[in-house]
Amino acid sequence: MTARILDGKAVAARIRSTMADEVAALISKHGRAPGLAVILVGEDAASEVYVRNKKKACVDTGIESAAFSQTLPASTTQQHLLGLIAELNANPKVDGILVQMPLPAQIDSETVIEAIDPGKDVDGFHPYNVGRLAARIPSLRSCTPYGCMKLLEETGLDLHGQEVVIVGASNIVGRPMALELLLAGATVTVAHKFTRDLQAHIERADIVVAAAGKPGLVKGEWIKPGAVVIDVGINRLNDGTLTGDVGYAAAAERAGWITPVPGGVGPMTITMLLANTVQAFREHLGDTL
Ligand code: NAD
Repeated sequence: MTARILDGKAVAARIRSTMADEVAALISKHGRAPGLAVILVGEDAASEVYVRNKKKACVDTGIESAAFSQTLPASTTQQHLLGLIAELNANPKVDGILVQMPLPAQIDSETVIEAIDPGKDVDGFHPYNVGRLAARIPSLRSCTPYGCMKLLEETGLDLHGQEVVIVGASNIVGRPMALELLLAGATVTVAHKFTRDLQAHIERADIVVAAAGKPGLVKGEWIKPGAVVIDVGINRLNDGTLTGDVGYAAAAERAGWITPVPGGVGPMTITMLLANTVQAFREHLGDTL
């Protein structure tokens, strides 16, 4: 079997194009654009690229980001950052606040995440929003798992009862991914660095979501024929190329569907950030669908 490609770039472009029309209509109705503040602290090269891409996606969709975004020096104190978040929380034109992670060592990320108004937490990282997802009443959802769910929708597969193995248990990917899939009725296993015999878990999975950040951790030969493979991993090799966590060539020969890296989950993450910002805007203005 040769897998069909889950083309995140194409799906993202389609969603963003519809969203741009929706945003244009919201601007003419409410007299202002949805506002997203993107805060970068320090000069981490990868973070600079992510922030640039997020701001560009805002411009393309009609979301106002430039007016509220700030780049702060690496020496920024936690107190200063918390002061800025308090101002953004109080600003009625700001619907979403994103603080790019990782933060410099002197700043505690959990404190920062919890300082963001949960109604403006468009990354979906605040314990309030994670808790709502756990309680099956999701509000603002974590962007990467939310994007993976949209990609799974593309397969047309009924998720009820599917055996899913998630590799990785982080707060931003593995855990909220497990909650999303439970909500969708799948049978979920979360593997992590203490898991014994990862191969045995992968071999029985109808759906594999790989998010460990280890190139080639999931061997393509382990994939059950016809399974869906969602590769969240982004790893830069010594030659500069990007690769996922799954051995792509062998997996693509066995899987039913597979995401490429790059061009799979990555574009969907930013798209769901935009979707969350529009959702937060609607909720702030009492204009929910
Ligand atoms: P993390 O380091 O916080 O978590 C990694 C997880 O993998 C941990 O739970 C750990 O227990 C698990 N793990 C490590 N080694 C393992 C092993 N041998 N077997 C099983 N599990 C193992 O990483 P993260 O922030 O969740 O990111 C994971 C990957 O996803 C990274 O490559 C990151 O760049 C990528 N990522 C991509 C996007 C996107 O939009 N495509 C978004 C977020 C993260």
